[in-house]
Amino acid sequence: MRYIDLRSDTVTQPTEKMRQAMFKAVVGDDVYGDDPTMTELEDYAAKLVGKEAALFVPTGTFGNQLALFTHCNRGNEVILGDDCHIVVHEVGAASVIAGVQLRTLVSNKGELNPEEIRKRIRKEDEDIHYPGTGLICVENAHTNGRVISLENMKSIYGIGKKHDVPVHLDGARLFNAATYLGVEAPEITKYCDSVMFCLSKGLCAPVGSILAGSKEFIDKARKKRKLMGGGMRQAGILAAAGLVALKEMREGLKLDHENAVLMGEELSKIDGIKARKEDIHINMVFFSIKDTNCSSEKLVQGLYEKGIKINGEEGGEVRFVTNHWTTKEDVLYVVECVKNLV
Ligand SMILES: *Cc1c(COP(=O)(O)O)cnc(C)c1O
Repeated sequence: MRYIDLRSDTVTQPTEKMRQAMFKAVVGDDVYGDDPTMTELEDYAAKLVGKEAALFVPTGTFGNQLALFTHCNRGNEVILGDDCHIVVHEVGAASVIAGVQLRTLVSNKGELNPEEIRKRIRKEDEDIHYPGTGLICVENAHTNGRVISLENMKSIYGIGKKHDVPVHLDGARLFNAATYLGVEAPEITKYCDSVMFCLSKGLCAPVGSILAGSKEFIDKARKKRKLMGGGMRQAGILAAAGLVALKEMREGLKLDHENAVLMGEELSKIDGIKARKEDIHINMVFFSIKDTNCSSEKLVQGLYEKGIKINGEEGGEVRFVTNHWTTKEDVLYVVECVKNLV
């Protein structure tokens, strides 16, 4: 049975073209720098985001944590939003791997106030009590479904530059952000020193993310990736799918976004559902269920029986995520099923 899977865009399956590319990939030992397919992916990825160099990592979490580990010294402080993936969904890894402390700011729908960042930057030699600020992190697109404005990113980057603090962009869904803004990725990544983006989400690759930055930064990160056990041998098998993801799957994100907007509009018409339509920038729809007998558990179970997989609510809201395998007909079918349950 085919399920419509709205739990996340991480559920995407590799395309037929990816499977063929993986099957045929020329590979070598990438720890020796001998894997031509991996080298091609890393070169292509660096160019695509306007950085000097790039490095393949197993997951987005790995890429973010490797960025912290590479930019910072132990005991440094990292300034970032209290609702970002690094704080909320990475198992506290920053304290274990990089050994840094996270200094969180209350975000305004994912956007950080540049002046509040400036006020928190500290120099180690300023005061005997102070840790030094090692890094600022921003997230775009944000996991709340919104895209952060380029103006906001620009002013944060300017502050980082002025105080000699690098900026890392968690761009797990960088190409969704670029699609929404109608710009090429470097228009976003010019406001960061390093960027992580996922091949495995909306772009459908089975495994992998990319960390990109200056050549010096990536050389350092490559060694630290090895330390973390992330030196992968014939990884060109995975890079082959990654190349298809970057070359052929970015365009389709537009359709995922259109389907999310349609989903939001149609769900809003249902009594008892309040969808945050103004926040649908990418492929995510958030909504709450009010004044009905339908709990989120009931919705999960009821939809499952109709061949639709969703996650239960988090923070009082349910999230539906569209992806490459979600069609417009699926969207309308899901809305019909929700209507019958609420
Ligand atoms: C998914 C995601 C990650 C982590 O990616 P994994 O491959 O699941 O580890 C990091 N940041 C954001 C914003 C994400 O959405």
